[in-house]
Amino acid sequence: MAETSVTVKQEMPDEAETGSSSGSYVEKRILEICHQDAKGVSDSALQIHLPNVDVQEKVKAINSLLSKGQIDLVQGSNNQLLYKIKDTQKQVDLRGSDNQERLVYQIIKEAGNKGIWIRDIRRGCGLAPPPLNKILKKLENRKVIKAIKSVGDSKKKVYMLFELEPDRSVTGGAWYSDQDFDAEFVNVLNQTCFKFLQEKMEAASKLDVDPLLKLNRSYASPEEVWKYIQELGLLSNGVNLGVDDIETILNTLIYDGKVEMTVSVNKSEQKGRTKMFRAIQPLTEPAGIMRIPCGVCPVFDNCYEGGAVSPSTCIYMKEWMDY
Ligand code: SF4
Repeated sequence: MAETSVTVKQEMPDEAETGSSSGSYVEKRILEICHQDAKGVSDSALQIHLPNVDVQEKVKAINSLLSKGQIDLVQGSNNQLLYKIKDTQKQVDLRGSDNQERLVYQIIKEAGNKGIWIRDIRRGCGLAPPPLNKILKKLENRKVIKAIKSVGDSKKKVYMLFELEPDRSVTGGAWYSDQDFDAEFVNVLNQTCFKFLQEKMEAASKLDVDPLLKLNRSYASPEEVWKYIQELGLLSNGVNLGVDDIETILNTLIYDGKVEMTVSVNKSEQKGRTKMFRAIQPLTEPAGIMRIPCGVCPVFDNCYEGGAVSPSTCIYMKEWMDY
């Protein structure tokens, strides 16, 4: 069974507590994990992918997905119960489609939510460009498939089944808006996360407790910062920011020399290790070369000249050059 590393830490605050959409976030993550393995995902595999999501939160999300008909509970080869993406394709009406259309549909279906490039479809079905384009157009018009612009290359479209939520590698995740890197949004988040940690550090320094306790109180978990961001209402509709996204921002603050991180070991087996972050006052200004933004850039892999993000259009690179 394919496993990817997902860095959601600790339990999510419950919906009632935050008044936000932590439930829908867990549901979205479960759907993403199930999409990665068409044969189904066991409970223990879910636990590996979501190590620190509270069990009750996870059960609630699974029940909600089952009742909405988005996943099925099936029996695996060794009598293990598996969560499987509901085969909505059964409902796709391919009546009247010829064999070529069915073949193209099957190739696109097998590509899952990462999609498939037209050149690979052509290689798989052996059709010449004109008839293939005609079939793709027809399936698109019938809302059986859709074409998505890949964030890595705005000129490259990938095809996937219409009802699928595109994978992060296609959309770029929360840092992209309509396939464009949202530098302003990332900047605001960066400053807001740092402000939260700074305020926490200042509040801790005023406490009348011993120095070690003061130090401990100045740390915050990614979940706390995530909750703060949710409560501020910074996120516009449709932006679903996860704890792992916040952790990415916090990591960039470490490399900026503004924040430090430690690992807290929780005795509870379920919570395991939790990364904790605190604001710091740097003793010296970091040297110029250490401030180069690319080393900690979350979109480093997608950055090249002519791409959606490039060194020549990057505001962080410009700031660094001016420095
Ligand atoms: S130039 Fe560097 S910092 Fe800017 S987007 Fe590219 S990799 Fe990121």
